[in-house]
Amino acid sequence: MKIALIGAGPRGLLLLERLLAWYPHTAVTALDITLYDPFPVGGRVWTTTQSPELLMNTAASQITLFYDQTVNSLGPYSPGPSLAQWARNDAAAWLRHVHAPVAFTAEAAALTANGYASRALYGYYQRWFYAELRRQAPAGVTIQHERTTVTALHPTTTGVTLATPAKTLTVDAAVLALGNATNALTASQRDLVDFAYEHHRLYWPPALPAEGDLSAVTAQDTVILRGLGLSFHDLVARLTSGRGGQFTRDATGQLRYHPSGREPHIVAGSRRGLPAHAKGRNQKAPGEQSQPVFLTPAQLNAWQAQGTVSKATFMAALQHDAAYVYYSLLLAQRYPQVELAAFQQDFTQAPKRAVAALPLQPDEYFDWAALLTAPAAATWPEAATAFLRADIAAAAQGTKTGPLTSALEVLRDLRDAIRQVVLRGLLAPEDREWFLRAFNRDNTFLSIGPPLRRHEELLALITAKVVTILPPKMQVTTADGAFIASSAAPGSPTYRGTALIDARVPATNATTAQNPLIQQLLHAGLATPYTLPNGESSGALATDLHTHQLMGRDGHLQTRLFLWGPPTEGQQWLTNASPRPLVNDISLRQANEIASLLLRDRLPE
Ligand SMILES: Cc1cc2nc3c(=O)[nH]c(=O)nc-3n(C[C@H](O)[C@H](O)[C@H](O)COP(=O)(O)OP(=O)(O)OC[C@H]3O[C@@H](n4cnc5c(N)ncnc54)[C@H](O)[C@@H]3O)c2cc1C
Repeated sequence: MKIALIGAGPRGLLLLERLLAWYPHTAVTALDITLYDPFPVGGRVWTTTQSPELLMNTAASQITLFYDQTVNSLGPYSPGPSLAQWARNDAAAWLRHVHAPVAFTAEAAALTANGYASRALYGYYQRWFYAELRRQAPAGVTIQHERTTVTALHPTTTGVTLATPAKTLTVDAAVLALGNATNALTASQRDLVDFAYEHHRLYWPPALPAEGDLSAVTAQDTVILRGLGLSFHDLVARLTSGRGGQFTRDATGQLRYHPSGREPHIVAGSRRGLPAHAKGRNQKAPGEQSQPVFLTPAQLNAWQAQGTVSKATFMAALQHDAAYVYYSLLLAQRYPQVELAAFQQDFTQAPKRAVAALPLQPDEYFDWAALLTAPAAATWPEAATAFLRADIAAAAQGTKTGPLTSALEVLRDLRDAIRQVVLRGLLAPEDREWFLRAFNRDNTFLSIGPPLRRHEELLALITAKVVTILPPKMQVTTADGAFIASSAAPGSPTYRGTALIDARVPATNATTAQNPLIQQLLHAGLATPYTLPNGESSGALATDLHTHQLMGRDGHLQTRLFLWGPPTEGQQWLTNASPRPLVNDISLRQANEIASLLLRDRLPE
């Protein structure tokens, strides 16, 4: 049997592992697996040559590629080290073996369970994983990686014809894990490209933040960053510490920035005007998660039985789960006289009434809306720095003891429950678009932020006047050969920029994706965009939620073509994450489902 895995990022590797695990338990007698990717094993996001300044946003103990016993999908169990365990026990020998720069050996040795690895180090972990799979592959299995792009797939009655720029061949099935694709330029992006060309300026549309040459940017430039998400932190790192600037801690414990003199002035903004809340200092062991009290499996089943749930009811349940964690920790720490168990019991019955009975100070109430905005201040710079200071203090308290940061962690821990609301189609049709847009934005802001250290650095960079944060509702125009950044907020300052960078990863959008394979599949009618109840495309390619087979334009499933990961975002939810150990991780589950369908259940005709 010949299987093509298209994309050698984490998902391609997860599937490879599952195929090898299943193989001895099936009737398949020979298995020939080829990974296709123009990038080395680990894929485009995790290249080992990228700047070591670029960090993961997930603690090292919460990253794995190994299938574990908590995964709720029957399959052979193959334990192995998390990224943190690998860094401690296996990395040194492996890094020496592949002649990696010595800096990575030092990084691996210093990486703690709750530290954040460079993205390049995770790339090395993936290569080690691949080498281990090849070393341990059962007899009868061949594995190879071809560094090329797959440009076309055509199912036939007996297999799939696969084309690369160099050749055409036949396989039995193909599994696509293509990650994020660059999109065609919008009209306004094209105008900016033309403007930059005409005036010898730099403009970058959304792209991967590690890519692109910034050497033309000098200390005389003003770089406007549009977006304050994770890509913003990456680009700031490339333009500051990546250029020789240094952070030191002063006697009060604050970070101070010492410029190298090669930094441009960075002006950054977004619709909200604030960077996402930092990740809390991790205190949870692998597998440890808050359990829902409101968004429980029983509640999800009850909503399913009644047909739908309104966004108000869903949000109330989610906010109550976050508030439950918040008040439980706050009371235990500040109000030991309040009987905690009794409060928790009351809160599960009648949250409002239970909170009203507490002897709290006005600023101690859990306020969801306040978490989404900046504290009141006379000027925006003051508001933004007050937000950063408060966020750093809250995150430093830890994910099991800090009331606020532990409450925000609930959004990470309950991802599977939230995902069920999407996968079971529980939201009323008119609320699904709200979920994909407004809810997603807020969820990202509250729970998909950078390591705490990034906010300390940002505060130091603002103090050093290297970075300026614009008030909310950022606007960018062009005039007199420059990009002009301001904000729609009254009294907003205006900055002239010599460079403009859209600091965000391209959104999933099947119809504008510049991936030749996606374009060919759509053109041939072998794939189709997923449509929301309001008739609009969500951006995803449609697949079957259970088998992960690609859906054709005529609504039929491609029995030999499977697709998962970011290109399905908008039908699936939150596909942009690497697997977490011991939490019944969805990517491990889906990898097992696809592999068992391919090898155990055999391909349906
Ligand atoms: C900048 C960035 C930082 C991130 N940081 C984190 C993090 O810290 N923690 C975390 O959990 N998640 C992070 N993510 C989320 C990330 O999406 C997942 O961790 C993971 O990489 C997704 O795996 P994947 O295999 O689905 O896709 P990818 O890792 O994107 O891999 C897809 C691969 O498919 C290849 N490909 C695409 N089309 C073709 C084709 N036609 N032919 C051949 N090959 C093709 C690409 O070259 C690419 O290598 C980050 C994402 C980005 C973009």
